[in-house]
Amino acid sequence: MSRPRILVVGAGFAGVACVRRLERRLTGREAAISLLSPFAYQLYLPLLPQVASGVLTPQSVALSLRRSEKHRTRIIPGGAIGIDTDAKVCVVRTITGETETEPYDHLVLAPGSVTRTFDIPGLAEHARGMKTLAEAAYLRDHVIAQLDLADASQDEAERAARLQFVVVGGGYAGTETAACLQLLTHNAVRRYPRLDPNLIKWHLVDIAPALMPELGPKLGAAALAILRRRGIEVSLGVSVASVDDENVTLTDGRVLPCRTLIWTAGVAASPLIGTLGAETLRGRLLVEPDMTVPGLPGVYALGDAAAVPDLAKGEEGAICPPTAQHAMRQGKVIADNLVATLRGERTRPYSHKDLGLVVDLGGLDAVSKPLGVELHGMPAQAVARAYHWAALRTNVAKTRVMTNWLLNAVAGDDFVRTGFLASKSGTLRDFEYTDAYLTPDQVRAHTASLRAGTS
Ligand SMILES: Cc1cc2nc3c(=O)[nH]c(=O)nc-3n(C[C@H](O)[C@H](O)[C@H](O)COP(=O)(O)OP(=O)(O)OC[C@H]3O[C@@H](n4cnc5c(N)ncnc54)[C@H](O)[C@@H]3O)c2cc1C
Repeated sequence: MSRPRILVVGAGFAGVACVRRLERRLTGREAAISLLSPFAYQLYLPLLPQVASGVLTPQSVALSLRRSEKHRTRIIPGGAIGIDTDAKVCVVRTITGETETEPYDHLVLAPGSVTRTFDIPGLAEHARGMKTLAEAAYLRDHVIAQLDLADASQDEAERAARLQFVVVGGGYAGTETAACLQLLTHNAVRRYPRLDPNLIKWHLVDIAPALMPELGPKLGAAALAILRRRGIEVSLGVSVASVDDENVTLTDGRVLPCRTLIWTAGVAASPLIGTLGAETLRGRLLVEPDMTVPGLPGVYALGDAAAVPDLAKGEEGAICPPTAQHAMRQGKVIADNLVATLRGERTRPYSHKDLGLVVDLGGLDAVSKPLGVELHGMPAQAVARAYHWAALRTNVAKTRVMTNWLLNAVAGDDFVRTGFLASKSGTLRDFEYTDAYLTPDQVRAHTASLRAGTS
């Protein structure tokens, strides 16, 4: 008899945790494991703002999928663009652009999320995200380019516009991004003696009435005080009304001449989920507490892409927030449930009590709430760095990150603009591949045409 085929889609926190556990618990004869990933690394997203601000190199947060020869999973270099759950195949766009199909017996959907957007004039063309390694590298170059261009410009209005930056999203991703990049420009401007440091303006904007509400009012206020002390203007209860080449217009009527709109206003489940035509909750695939998808035998979903019931919260209808700590733990439980299914045993529900949140605001500034204890300043920064360092999966990644932190603390940043991505448009569509997916009908038509071709 042939071995059951397990296909894991997405090599992020959830997918990699699942695959590593499957490799440990299953013998090669029990199942064939495949991992579908457009990239050859697992991205440690929580440290992306530090890549953008130059504290860490991109390589230090890109953890190799091929670190050990014990890793026997077959890695397919490409992205899923559709799933046909009737035919039990995944439609794959390979990294060379070909379309192939990958059959499965058990499917684990862990494609994560993309930046959430709204129907705001100009947003699709002008917003830049902070969700992928390319976006972090692009933003770093873009911000340094604004300093270079402002420095060279003879036009006062252009100089002021280039030195004004808008970040939308007062969650932890947006707050960390604004804080870390503001520190970058603050430190870099010393290398530009012709530029007036007072011209550099950072705005953090959110429609919500408070920053990072998940931290509670006290720590939210502490973070707000840190940002304001650094000169970042925080506007709450406000969003973007429109954006064009030269201005960002806010919903309170203010027009901010600027060339940089960083958009971190939350996440939406990967568009891959929409190709299944299955039931979703605010875009995330609805799953049972054991992360099976109702009505779709052999399909599991987890992480940012799935609405996994948060049993530990003890509230009716509570769903796990989209965080790495949940994704990683869900990956392990799904692996255990797959092993149980293959061996005819019972699956178990996912339950994990949130460990809290750490928010690195760059330099010595941070706010953290580990296990409900509220910290800010140096203790919070120590907890934030220790938490991320411990959570990095491999020793080589830990060493790279620690070395980068030490080097940055001692030697600072050289603010080098690499220009590698200068030819890219930098849009969310460009870096997050949001328009690569098929519709459910196109998926079915594709698999039907393959069947017709082979029959
Ligand atoms: C700036 C930032 C800071 C954050 N800080 C924290 C933090 O401090 N603590 C915390 O707990 N969480 C944090 N998060 C959230 C956390 O990173 C996510 O919740 C977590 O990454 C979700 O894990 P996942 O495995 O579901 O998705 P991801 O880790 O995003 O992995 C998804 C994987 O799927 C791949 N993929 C996508 N589409 C396809 C496709 N069609 N086919 C194949 N593969 C695909 C992607 O390339 C990626 O490798 C942060 C996020 C950001 C952006």
